[in-house]
Amino acid sequence: MSLTNHNAKRFDTLLVANRGEIACRVMRTARALGLRTVAVYSDADANARHVREADEAVRLGPAAARESYLKVEAVIEAARRTGAGAIHPGYGFLSENGPFVEALDAAGITFVGPPASAIAAMGDKSAAKARMHHAGVPLVPGYHGADQDDALLRDEAERIGYPVLLKASAGGGGKGMRVVESADGFQVALDGCRRESQAAFGDQRMLIEKYLTQPRHVEVQVFCDSHGNGVYLFERDCSVQRRHQKVLEEAPAPGMTAELRRAMGEAAVRAAKEIGYVGAGTVEFLLDASQGQDGSFYFMEMNTRLQVEHPVTEMITGQDLVAWQLKVAMGEPLPLAQHELTITGHSFEARLYAEDPEQDFLPATGTLSRFAMDLDGAGLEPSRVRLDSGVETGDAVSMHYDPMLAKLIVHGDDRTQALATLNRALAALDVQGVVTNRAFLQRLATHPAFRNAQLDTRFIERNEATLFAARQIDLEEYAGAALIGLHQLARECESDSPWDRHDGFRLNAPHTIRIALCPTTQNPAHAQHEDDAEAVVVVEGRREAGGSPWQLTLGGRTFAATLEPLEGDAVAMTLNGHRRRMLARLVGEGRERNVVVMVDPQRETRLFWRRIDAIDHGHHEAESTLTAPMHGTVVALLVEAGARVEKGMPLMVMEAMKMEHTMTAPADGHVESFHFAAGDTVGQGDVLLEFAADE
Ligand code: ADP
Repeated sequence: MSLTNHNAKRFDTLLVANRGEIACRVMRTARALGLRTVAVYSDADANARHVREADEAVRLGPAAARESYLKVEAVIEAARRTGAGAIHPGYGFLSENGPFVEALDAAGITFVGPPASAIAAMGDKSAAKARMHHAGVPLVPGYHGADQDDALLRDEAERIGYPVLLKASAGGGGKGMRVVESADGFQVALDGCRRESQAAFGDQRMLIEKYLTQPRHVEVQVFCDSHGNGVYLFERDCSVQRRHQKVLEEAPAPGMTAELRRAMGEAAVRAAKEIGYVGAGTVEFLLDASQGQDGSFYFMEMNTRLQVEHPVTEMITGQDLVAWQLKVAMGEPLPLAQHELTITGHSFEARLYAEDPEQDFLPATGTLSRFAMDLDGAGLEPSRVRLDSGVETGDAVSMHYDPMLAKLIVHGDDRTQALATLNRALAALDVQGVVTNRAFLQRLATHPAFRNAQLDTRFIERNEATLFAARQIDLEEYAGAALIGLHQLARECESDSPWDRHDGFRLNAPHTIRIALCPTTQNPAHAQHEDDAEAVVVVEGRREAGGSPWQLTLGGRTFAATLEPLEGDAVAMTLNGHRRRMLARLVGEGRERNVVVMVDPQRETRLFWRRIDAIDHGHHEAESTLTAPMHGTVVALLVEAGARVEKGMPLMVMEAMKMEHTMTAPADGHVESFHFAAGDTVGQGDVLLEFAADE
């Protein structure tokens, strides 16, 4: 039994040098294994979820990551103060930082991850490719030599054949990377990449690769222990990317054959062993999708850490990869051998980002007024759905860190079932207060090309027209939204529920409400104005015994409607005998922004909702008193008591069910007195003022 230079020993306290969902996720397993958990935080995260959930937490510094989460000495000091014997780095931040690992070794603290030497071996793309070539791992045809002479590089590009991809050797995050279509553009691209790489990494070395026009991103999860064992836990397809960042991932990769899976898995284990790897790692490959299922695969890079998308592997293998990491870090052998690992069913992960897909995925900030998943309402089985989240209702989303809020992970017996569950689960996610990509994820996951697994790394680009197209909203949706808005408002103002009242809505009397509706995007900043009504729905209450209580009229059509509240946010809407189940919400604060959101597993509909006509009194003759048409609040008195007014002049404004209602003079005359002042609450039927009409 040979221990590598890896600092393996038992520990009872784990510090997690990260934040957000991954910190919460790592601590969950650590607790289950009986470890004490220590969080670290920046000032922006003093009350963040990972801090709340940890047994102890230590402040690192100000909000900026380089002054907190990236500060090696501060993290080590936090471990010392709390007696943490090991540090889990999560992903990002210090997870692939060789000097950090060396500092931990020196301090006698276990790093839950590979040795510094393995991180270094994969840190430089050119050097890594040379080692992979040596280990017999297939590479994209290309050049990764030390000679960086312009003419030589140009010749190499010619030899490889255009289009080629220039990549910074020291690169990462897509920086210093450009596609060159032909020899004409080579020099300009080379100069540009060198400048970018110099600025980002302080290094100008370039490598050249054949640019694959239709590759899939397929990566293999590997695991090695400090006893010389190595296994692969199969593959993940992460082809759906925006700006080279993953959005939807799945395992296993669709269309894999057993031979290709084994070939890729074994190549990945060879790659890990070549560099003396220990712990969880991911070997990323490009799979040439243009050649069908048995396409060639090429090594791209190895990520020497736990990946964001590791849960899809956990779902199909039934293993807890963080538990594996912790055991390996304690010096234990791998829990299972290769032949004991199997794939069960299919899994998807969707990354929920605080960003606006309609604005080129611009990150969004704000406070989460609601962050919940309505499993009951969506009819989901909890065992099939996992939400790995770093936030809860009430949490702030700042601009300091990655905009990923949570990951939604689902499992199904096969891809079709898993995808259906993903769509239901996406519908069940209710995030308010911060703009997110939730609806975009739903459009991706319901896209026919995605359903058919027509995957490659340009999926989003290629399907842009259909993914971003404004959707035609049909009459039934408008009609449904009108009623949902009324219903939800009535629920909010319980005492004023039209369902409970003994007048108006209940009777056959001609009480009519008019609702103006207009499509909106999720982002109020570039939504149409709510006054631009696209549809006006006339809602009539006709609660007849046994019949539909509502009649909705719009666009020359009439719908007999019922709306039945179900569990959670779910409702069943029946329009002319067609019953549909959906999740329905009314969002927005105040009168300004009432938005009805209807979500089902196929789509989301968001409509500005506004009452434009509360009550039709049905009688216009002069009255000596004016009564409140509904329970509400007096907003303003518009004339003085005793004032002379003409018929139709506004006298008083009240507000009820989020709309203003103006009481007007029923005839020429004068107001004798008001019974209420601005701010007073009035009950339905209360006499508001005494009015004397002229004789
Ligand atoms: P970085 O380390 O900067 O993220 P990678 O080498 O991991 O760069 O590549 C990022 C993404 O760029 C890949 O996921 C893939 O979509 C695309 N890519 C990389 N190399 C190639 C190639 N040779 N041909 C086509 N696409 C590529």
